[in-house]
Amino acid sequence: MPSIELNSYVDMPSPLSVEFQKGRITLGKHRMLMLHAGAMGSLRRELIDTLGMEWARRVLTRMGFVSGELDAGLVRRLMPNASDDDLLLMGPMMHSAEGIVRVSPLKLDIDIANQKYYAEMLWEDSFEAEVHVKSMGLSPEAVCWIQIGYACGYTSAIVGKRILYKEVECAGCGDRHCRIIGKPIEEWEDAEAEARHFEPIRVADQIIQLQEEVQHLRYSIDDQVAMGEMVGTSAAFRDTCELIHKAADSQVTVLLLGETGVGKEVFARSLHSISTRAKNTFVPINCAAIPEELIESELFGVEKGAYTGAQHSRPGRFERAHGGTLFLDEVGELSTSAQAKILRVLQDGEFERIGDTRTRRVDVRLVAATNVDLKQAVEAGRFRADLYYRLNIFPVIVPPLRERKDDIPLLVNRFLEKYSARHGKRVTGITERAMETLLKFDWPGNIRELENMIERGVILVGPNQQIDVKQIFPCVDLSRTMAGGAPAPGGEAPREAPASLDHMVESALNQSASLEQIEQIMLTKAVERSNGNLSSAARLLNMTRPQLAYRLKKHQAVPDGVTD
Ligand SMILES: [Zn+2]
Repeated sequence: MPSIELNSYVDMPSPLSVEFQKGRITLGKHRMLMLHAGAMGSLRRELIDTLGMEWARRVLTRMGFVSGELDAGLVRRLMPNASDDDLLLMGPMMHSAEGIVRVSPLKLDIDIANQKYYAEMLWEDSFEAEVHVKSMGLSPEAVCWIQIGYACGYTSAIVGKRILYKEVECAGCGDRHCRIIGKPIEEWEDAEAEARHFEPIRVADQIIQLQEEVQHLRYSIDDQVAMGEMVGTSAAFRDTCELIHKAADSQVTVLLLGETGVGKEVFARSLHSISTRAKNTFVPINCAAIPEELIESELFGVEKGAYTGAQHSRPGRFERAHGGTLFLDEVGELSTSAQAKILRVLQDGEFERIGDTRTRRVDVRLVAATNVDLKQAVEAGRFRADLYYRLNIFPVIVPPLRERKDDIPLLVNRFLEKYSARHGKRVTGITERAMETLLKFDWPGNIRELENMIERGVILVGPNQQIDVKQIFPCVDLSRTMAGGAPAPGGEAPREAPASLDHMVESALNQSASLEQIEQIMLTKAVERSNGNLSSAARLLNMTRPQLAYRLKKHQAVPDGVTD
């Protein structure tokens, strides 16, 4: 009968036996199981999808705790003459031997007789972090729940009092390794909150409570949306957050730069909410959405009789933002006259309502945003240089989604929560294949595009089902596929094209047309239809203006009379 011996550095009788014919593995007298780590990963994911993060965490932490307690009892029986100090060191060894994680002590200050316990351990190659990242992507919080439970269960059983371990670094959050610290529970500041992860769960009670919370969330979710979307763990995201935090402490004017759809307003709101102005109003205005002739009255207000139709006096956005923050989106679209007035408010805090002679004063923190190159606009004479320098004191680049793809799983979860609450529909997540497709896509429309896709998915999928590729990318988007040079969304999965598009492609193939030719025809037609205006041609093609300009240049097909 084949049997495998476990070698240990201490004097322990050979405890592991594998009896293939009997279908039994035993360690000491305990029956053990050999499972695929992938199967544990799948169980873990199902628990998270079914119960949510917090409850899944409790179930797994308790499972680890029991496992640690059992191992402690086992080594005590196997090594009756060993001291408690020796037994403590067997815990990490058992954990490594069971294939869970490689443990090495970093700092130990333990005196069991005097109830003193401090331990710091390095965890390398954690199985739990590995399966979590594989199935769910990087997490904002530590994820080695079974392992932490094990460390607590094992140590508490040997020491004879409650020792609590916490992960202070975790490979599941993108750290290089996991690192844990263990102390008696009462020495932790947040002992009560941490102890909750070890409490049993009565699922039925929880479900009723959750339903009530969902009802409540459904009504309050819109207010929270802006903050809730500030999720991410990618390096690019963290860098931007750090700058926002630095800016928030001061009163400096901030200029947010970045492509359309990257969530500049979300960052602006978050800056406001962590600044000293948080208790006052945040007033957003999109300069491109308001006609040029109305923008000044919107910004600065109007006095009665200033022009035909001004029957009442009303304050503008600057006055409404007094004491708070004004967010000027697409600031590059402002008229020259509005630019001059904004410069004056920034310099002196003064302005007049339209049609008024009285000078008013405001205290407003300005956050501006743009997706155009303001410096270029200055060179072209479309934007005042003095205003540009004034705005550009503290520029913050908000990264495009393709540079923070690590955040996609988190954002997807966030949008799933938001839209399943809004549409009153329970969705159990998205399939692995759909997630892979999202991760491969190059996201020219950034977070806004991802959000739209997830909302579409929530609407199209059946209740209690997972969203799959076909609900996220329901039809071929030919211009996109060609424009971005990205792999067709959906990979090899067959997708349905609208009949007319299908017909067009058939006939193009019959004439052996090349992709280049088709692309060139589409680009030229779109520019013609927009009378040479590149911005509106780009909208027709569902791409950004710079992308279109680049493609046209590539084809050397810049038609005469092209404008912005
Ligand atoms: Zn970890």
